[in-house]
Formats: sequence, structure tokens, C-alpha cells
Amino acid sequence: GRGRPGRLDAIGQASSIAVNNLVYEMKEAGRDVITLSLGEAFFDLPLPAFAAGTGVDLHHYTHSRGVPRLRERLAAYYQDQCRVPVDPERELIVTAGSKMALFMALLAVVDPGDEVLVREPLWVSYPDQIRLAGGVPVAVPHQVPVGELKNHITPRTRAIVVNNPQNPSGNLLTADEVAELHRLADRYGLTLIADEAYNEFVPLGAEFISLGVCDPEKRHTVICNSMSKNYGISGWRVGYLIGNGAFLDDVLKLQQHIVTCAPSILCHFLADHFTRLLAVTRPQIQEVVARRNRVEKTLTAAGIETLSGDSTFYLFADIGRTGADSERFARDLLLDHGVSVVPGSGYGASCAGFVRVSVGAEPEARVSAGIDRLITAAV
Ligand code: PLP
Repeated sequence: GRGRPGRLDAIGQASSIAVNNLVYEMKEAGRDVITLSLGEAFFDLPLPAFAAGTGVDLHHYTHSRGVPRLRERLAAYYQDQCRVPVDPERELIVTAGSKMALFMALLAVVDPGDEVLVREPLWVSYPDQIRLAGGVPVAVPHQVPVGELKNHITPRTRAIVVNNPQNPSGNLLTADEVAELHRLADRYGLTLIADEAYNEFVPLGAEFISLGVCDPEKRHTVICNSMSKNYGISGWRVGYLIGNGAFLDDVLKLQQHIVTCAPSILCHFLADHFTRLLAVTRPQIQEVVARRNRVEKTLTAAGIETLSGDSTFYLFADIGRTGADSERFARDLLLDHGVSVVPGSGYGASCAGFVRVSVGAEPEARVSAGIDRLITAAV
């Protein structure tokens, strides 16, 4: 799928799982198969009532690309909500969270020594996942606009990881920035790895533009997303990866050798309840985003600037003028004032003067109390 030899060329599908995928497809199509290929014993289990009697096998390995009904739901979601056409058969794999989707994408794209650009503030796992894949993370300071990313491209640059909307700044890419990223990808032969895990956390009136919009054939675009943030079910470990068919054939080998499939019962549950969950979380997401933007105003009024952005439930607050580095500030805030924030240093060298504040996990009154204490400590 990538036009040059890579680490996955010497790797095959897991032969057992390849057979069982085929069996799964044949059974889905109504064929009776005497299955002597499955590596598990089926027990009579005392299962919870919600799982009983549906007639669907909820409890065993699924197709390693993911439960077909869920793939269809997710593909339709990207098509309808994000304007990215997705073939559920070939262009989407259900993964164990977006972290796993991202790591498999990096393993499939990056060869040893390849450079991968990451914009600061960067999500903390990007550089180490790139290193684990044998690559070299090249962090671009937060002051550098998308239009100047080209100054950081070298002959070894292979990919750009783009988090949109961005944790921790809440920044949303504009249509121009998305177009510019695709121009760079075209011109320099790069893969864009888009992490869109927070795509629902966008205020009314603002528009989330998926990186897939400009590349419907997914020639150089890979999209990671998940249920963790948009649905508030992070512990379920269900995410997905969208890419072109040949690329995902490569990723499928990794999936088969590393995890086999995403958690079966949860995937079936999600396939049934996807639309309802979305309807339930959407208004609550708007409340959280609005709260975020109220907190931002409070901080600004107190003289604490934040990096620009109005999406997600995070703020990246500049506490640089306290003179303390963010690790010290965060430790003192926790130990002396009982308020936890994440030091900015983990988000890149240009972010040492920031702390990340999440307003999503506590009731508003407690968030406000925490912000008051943060302001007292910072000014
Ligand atoms: N990407 C970003 C930007 C995140 O903030 C997170 C979680 O914090 C993830 C990916 C991973 O989420 P998950 O693996 O639960 O889908």
C-alpha cells in the first residue's frame, strides 16, 4: 500500500486468523461451516441477561477487521458526519482503542530512521510510539504555523501526525490548514496520520474538518478515532482506523499478530446502540465544551493566557510568568492546594511553561474551585 518495501513485507497474516476471518464471512453469508479452525473452547456460560438470547455470538473472537455491523455504522458515521466516504469492507478496521490504531499505523508507515513530524503541543504518546516503531520524532514548536511546517521536512521525513481537534490546546484546523497539509503530503510524498479522537468536542458554529475530506481515496491519509472520548467509554478499548484498502491489509497483519480483534461483546453492543449513544452524548458534549470556554474566560480575566483553541475539554494554560517550571508548579498545586493538572513539559520542549487543565471529569462547581486555586497559585 505504500509504494516501497517496508517492515511488513516479510510478515504474513496470522494463518489461523485468516482462516477464521473467512469462516466468519461465510457464516455471515448464511453458510454452514463445521468450524474446526477456532483456537478456543466454547463453554456454557452463566451470562448477564443483556447478552443472552440475541442469537448473535457475542463472546468469541470476531472477524479481525471488526464486527461487520459496527464497521458499517462507523463507516456511515464518517460518511454522514465527517464527509469522508469509507468502504466498511476494505477501508476501516476496528481496533483496541485509538492508541492501538495509531501505533499500528506508525508501524506500517515508519521504517527505521524515518522522521515523523509532530506539532507541539503534542499528545504525549506520539514521540515514544514513533520511537518504538524505529522512527525519529521531529517535534515542531507550537509557534510554527502549518504553512511553515515545510521548513522541518527533510529527505528522511515520512509522515506527519496531526491531532485535530488537539489535546491539549483545543485547537481546530481550518480548511486552509487542512488543504496545506495535503499539499505538503502530495509534494513530499508524506503520509498524514490524523488523530481525530475528539472530533465531536467542537462548539456549535465551529466546523470539524476531517483530514480525510481532501483525500477521499485515502492515497496518503490515515485516520485514527475511538469511542473513548466522544462516547465516554474509554475503558472499553474500542477504536478504529480508516485508510486505503492496501494499507489496511498491511495493518491487518499487525492486528492479527498483536491483538486478534477488538473486544467482541462491546463491539456488538456498540453496533446496536451507536446512534442512541451519539444522541445521548452530543448535548452533554456541548455542555462540556461550553464549560471549557467559560473556564478559559476566567483564566484570561485573571491574566493567564491559554493557547488558542475552543474545542475539546482541555485548556493549555501559560503559567510561565510564575517563573516556576510546569512540573514544579503542577506538583506544588497538587500537594499544597489539592488540585491536579498535567505539566506542559510532556507536550514538547516549547510547552514547558504550560499546564494542561481538563474540565471534563469533575462537576462544574469543583472545576471552578480548582481553577480559583490554580489562579491563586499562578498570579
Ligand atoms: N489521541 C489523543 C489525542 C488522546 O488524547 C488519547 C487519549 O487520551 C488517545 C489518542 C487515545 O485514546 P484511546 O486509545 O482510548 O482511543
